[in-house]
Amino acid sequence: MVLTHVQELDDAAAASAVVFASRYVQEPLPRFELGKKSISKDAAYQIIHDELLLDSSPRLNLASFVTTWMEPECDRLILEGINKNYADMDEYPVTTEIQNRCVNIIARLFNAPVGAGEKAVGVGTVGSSEAIMLAGLAFKRRWQNRRKAAGKPYDKPNIVTGANVQVCWEKFARYFEVELKEVKLREGCYVMDPDEAVQMVDENTICVAAILGSTLTGEFEDVKRLNNLLLAKNKRTGWDTPIHVDAASGGFIAPFLYPELEWDFRLPLVKSINVSGHKYGLVYAGVGWVIWRNKEDLPEDLIFHINYLGADQPTFTLNFSKGSSQIIAQYYQFLRLGFEGYRNVMENCMESARTLREGLERTGRFTIISKDQGVPLVAFTFKGKDTSLAFRLSSELRRFGWIVPAYTMPANLEHMAVLRVVVREDFGRPLAERFLSHVRMALEELDDEAKGGPVPRMRVTIELGPAAKGSGEEATARVVKRESVVAVQRSVSLAGGKTKGVC
Ligand SMILES: *Cc1c(COP(=O)(O)O)cnc(C)c1O
Repeated sequence: MVLTHVQELDDAAAASAVVFASRYVQEPLPRFELGKKSISKDAAYQIIHDELLLDSSPRLNLASFVTTWMEPECDRLILEGINKNYADMDEYPVTTEIQNRCVNIIARLFNAPVGAGEKAVGVGTVGSSEAIMLAGLAFKRRWQNRRKAAGKPYDKPNIVTGANVQVCWEKFARYFEVELKEVKLREGCYVMDPDEAVQMVDENTICVAAILGSTLTGEFEDVKRLNNLLLAKNKRTGWDTPIHVDAASGGFIAPFLYPELEWDFRLPLVKSINVSGHKYGLVYAGVGWVIWRNKEDLPEDLIFHINYLGADQPTFTLNFSKGSSQIIAQYYQFLRLGFEGYRNVMENCMESARTLREGLERTGRFTIISKDQGVPLVAFTFKGKDTSLAFRLSSELRRFGWIVPAYTMPANLEHMAVLRVVVREDFGRPLAERFLSHVRMALEELDDEAKGGPVPRMRVTIELGPAAKGSGEEATARVVKRESVVAVQRSVSLAGGKTKGVC
């Protein structure tokens, strides 16, 4: 039996329909311990809603690739899917089928060799990070199986990547005990050099990971050259080193804007690809995808076969129960936008990025280090040697509400401080122009500061007393303390290298 607790009528707060007229807004919040009593649902909503107002506005967060706007119709579907457990495949066969449709759509978008009636191999994940863990595990297992069969040691696996990889690759390496061999970056080259990468490949290399859309600069790595060099090395050595493409951000850019660019399953050594549905897949945070080229590229011993009411359900994710909203939202975008819609969105993003880049160049203060081809973002450094300027501009822009990360580059390029503005679907020309005018204002402030040096400040503590008789003033003020205050310069680093992941 359900017991309903009826509040006492003499409780004035309960009788009042207006949260702000109730005692709830005056009582301290239970923060770290469960409160003793219940409170009304509208009070609970209002209190939490109000406190969250102090978070930055996601739409002004130019640090992140992750989607911050979707159509209201899709918001509705998201609410409808939130109480369906994605792991209950047998209970929610339509959701499972929708996931399979998404896997197949993406696999074909990436030119996987799947015949007309065939099913692609892949799975929906929480994001690219989980997708990369799964792809990495598959490579590790395949390599181990091969080494075992050949009677060779299999305890020192490594992956070759550029030093520009996202933090999740470091996580994979540490969690799953694989050495990460990083190709260092150098001045003017902010992505993995394929020649150097292939030189680093040895018999223990489980795969080379190339990035389509470097997190730091948005640049695409040259996967085709990597593929060709590695084919030659494999032939020479008799090894079978494959390629994974981390297309977290670029996977939904390249097929629409650069269909001729060969970076995907058209290249024979590319065995798996990950992409973030919640970046340019245009879905809110919480969805990513990993696609394998063929069934053989996903070792059978990583797949669990669950027997649900007599039906065989294969499962191979690291996460288990979660809501179905993101998967449904991804399918909504595919259905709603189609190829044409995605292409239009990406073209608009590129156009906004161009407006931004040109505006930043016009200030004469910056060197742009992102390329014209790549993910729609602008990465730039201050001309000259003062790296503190990037961090100071970043904090000046926060005063206008914009979040623009400043970070130092990875090993060998630590002397470079980079600012990065990511363009998402919901950042159109009017916002871009307003942003540029704020950058110009912020630069003026930095210049004023530089002219006068740090402004000396004095803190004066005064005590107010009653006005002296006949003085005509309202109060007397007596100085009780004078202190000089050292001007502090705060440089906020939102991300430095990959130990503080920008995503
Ligand atoms: C964002 C990103 C990731 C991590 O993706 P999530 O979807 O946030 O887990 C991995 N690699 C690259 C290149 C990225 O840009």
